[in-house]
Amino acid sequence: MLLVGSAAYIWSHFAGASPADEANVRTYICAETGKSFTHRLVIGEREPIVSPFTNRNTGWRAEACYWTKDGRAKKKPTWVLVKQRMGQEGQTFCPDCDREVTPHNALPPRELMDAAE
Ligand SMILES: [Zn+2]
Repeated sequence: MLLVGSAAYIWSHFAGASPADEANVRTYICAETGKSFTHRLVIGEREPIVSPFTNRNTGWRAEACYWTKDGRAKKKPTWVLVKQRMGQEGQTFCPDCDREVTPHNALPPRELMDAAE
């Protein structure tokens, strides 16, 4: 089970990166404003990181949701702030497609990703 989880994790990170992306740049969401931003990972850094929108530590790693409302996949994900990342209880649902989003969120099946627009 652990193996499956980490494989999906790695896969989602490769699939989420375009060739132009820098290796250690990740997308974060500001918990206060709900806006997403990119940030280069710093070794030893802990979340939440400083958000450019508040200048305070309100930035959390975002999860990518590649689903569309009608059950297809899209290339440009919706970035979602998962409650569990912030140590909060309860499920998190994607504001775009209403599917549940979890830490290390799984991608749609490969055939849907291949057909994604
Ligand atoms: Zn979604």
